[in-house]
Amino acid sequence: MTYRKSLQPLQILKLLPRTNCKECGSSTCFAFAFELLSRQKIPRDCPHLLKEVFAGSFESLEEALGAGERIEGTDLVVDHDRCTGCGDCVVICERALTTISIGGRITHRDPLPPVLQVTDGNVNVINWSSCKRSARHHDLCKVCEEKCPFGAIVLVS
Ligand code: SF4
Ligand code: SF4
Ligand code: SF4
Repeated sequence: MTYRKSLQPLQILKLLPRTNCKECGSSTCFAFAFELLSRQKIPRDCPHLLKEVFAGSFESLEEALGAGERIEGTDLVVDHDRCTGCGDCVVICERALTTISIGGRITHRDPLPPVLQVTDGNVNVINWSSCKRSARHHDLCKVCEEKCPFGAIVLVS
């Protein structure tokens, strides 16, 4: 299982150039750190991180946050370079959708339309409204992230 190291905003800030130059579109490097955490931005959005002198920081940030972008309208960040299309997340998600815990007791329910699908060797979201994290269900399910053998999925709120 591949888990990503989690970083706090200040730890991310320490890896950034800290010049507050605004070239990434954020008002400060600290604001950029929060946008990285919420996956509104990715490390390469800071052009200075692509310089040789920041190679180590860039690698640490991509390792912790992933190189993926957030799929619009969802909590899912998929790193398409890491995703092999193995489909484990699709299977585990379908299982998660048919089990609910009520007062500590696991109950089964009718399946919903699948959230995830593998297309052209990469995972994709096809029905976000079925996801336990969607506005309809209010559950902080993280099963697909935990079970992806390649650390290709990150869930953010
Ligand atoms: S482009 Fe990089 S150095 Fe400039 S404000 Fe953004 S994060 Fe900071
Ligand atoms: S996200 Fe992970 S589990 Fe899902 S298809 Fe890609 S590699 Fe497999
Ligand atoms: S968070 Fe849970 S319900 Fe949503 S896609 Fe992942 S496994 Fe499926």
